[in-house]
Amino acid sequence: MRGGRLVFRQLFDPQSSTYTYLLADGASGEAVLIDPVFEHVRRDAALIGELQLRLLCTLETHVHADHVSGGWLLKQSLGSQILVAKDTDVVGADRYLEHGDRIVFGRRHLGVRSTPGHTAGCLTYVMDDESCAFTGDCLLIRGAGRTDFQQGDAATLYRSVCSQIFTLPGPCLLYPAHDYRGLTVTSVAEEKRFNPRLGGQLSETDFVGYMRNLGLAHPRKMDLAVPANLKCGRPDESVALDAEPAWAPLNYTFAGIWEIQPQWVEEHLNDVLVLDVREPEEFDGPLGHVPDAYHIPLDSLTERLDELTTGRPIVAVCRAGGRSAQATLVLQKAGFADVANLAGGMLRWRAQQLPVEGAAD
Ligand code: FE
Repeated sequence: MRGGRLVFRQLFDPQSSTYTYLLADGASGEAVLIDPVFEHVRRDAALIGELQLRLLCTLETHVHADHVSGGWLLKQSLGSQILVAKDTDVVGADRYLEHGDRIVFGRRHLGVRSTPGHTAGCLTYVMDDESCAFTGDCLLIRGAGRTDFQQGDAATLYRSVCSQIFTLPGPCLLYPAHDYRGLTVTSVAEEKRFNPRLGGQLSETDFVGYMRNLGLAHPRKMDLAVPANLKCGRPDESVALDAEPAWAPLNYTFAGIWEIQPQWVEEHLNDVLVLDVREPEEFDGPLGHVPDAYHIPLDSLTERLDELTTGRPIVAVCRAGGRSAQATLVLQKAGFADVANLAGGMLRWRAQQLPVEGAAD
């Protein structure tokens, strides 16, 4: 699934325009996750599982003001360590990072560089071969992080960029913590030349003047995010976490689908409603169908939802699990809470030699 190379994935949170980065050593499967977002922990954990990786730790580039970190929640679900900068007031982390530290995963590592200015505790993570770096909100694509709160300081930020980022090789790719225009990556050479705030011939004085006159509003989630992130994203007791479904052992996929294994369904046929969404000729075709399955082709599902209010959880099934995955999304959108997709569809059901009705052979 992962091969022997470096695994790299760039993940996005559309709410805060935050990028989360998954890095792993393909040979050992050891992984790190930079700047995870609380609301996407389930997505990120699914990807880590599907790529057969083991998450060693989550890393923060800084104490974010616009989203809550997923570090604490990932530690609860995957056992990962939480790594943050030493120059912060964060409590509850497993390791506090300083300039010059290394974060090792398998045969690879990230170097830690202190790049204050956006906040006092901002870090940049540099890949062992200097092929790429993760700059947080220090250097953005054709921009720079704001410097007007959280001990931000424009002159400090200018010096951080010049001494710690612009000294990397020109082709070194730079991945920021945010982009608000949908840009995904830049390079040292590009930013040195084209960054309108601190590239080209612009001086520290030019930069400080520019930053003093940005006039930005404070981030919407700041009053919530900063206190939460000072505790590594640990929510207050009063915050209700999105519970895992309790009616069956379900697996959440990176595609966003709750899946259920055929064996469990076969053992609980009386407790669930099996909904077959194939065409009529397939339902009565050679593969047969699950005993007592209720049949509504996917095309007519939306008009016939009222037939499904039995109170039992619904397991959707089709030939291979594709159309039924879509059916689970339709059902969830319509307000059905306990819904899952039969993993692998009728093909896997038959391959596991589970009982069928109406099969031709
Ligand atoms: Fe920030």
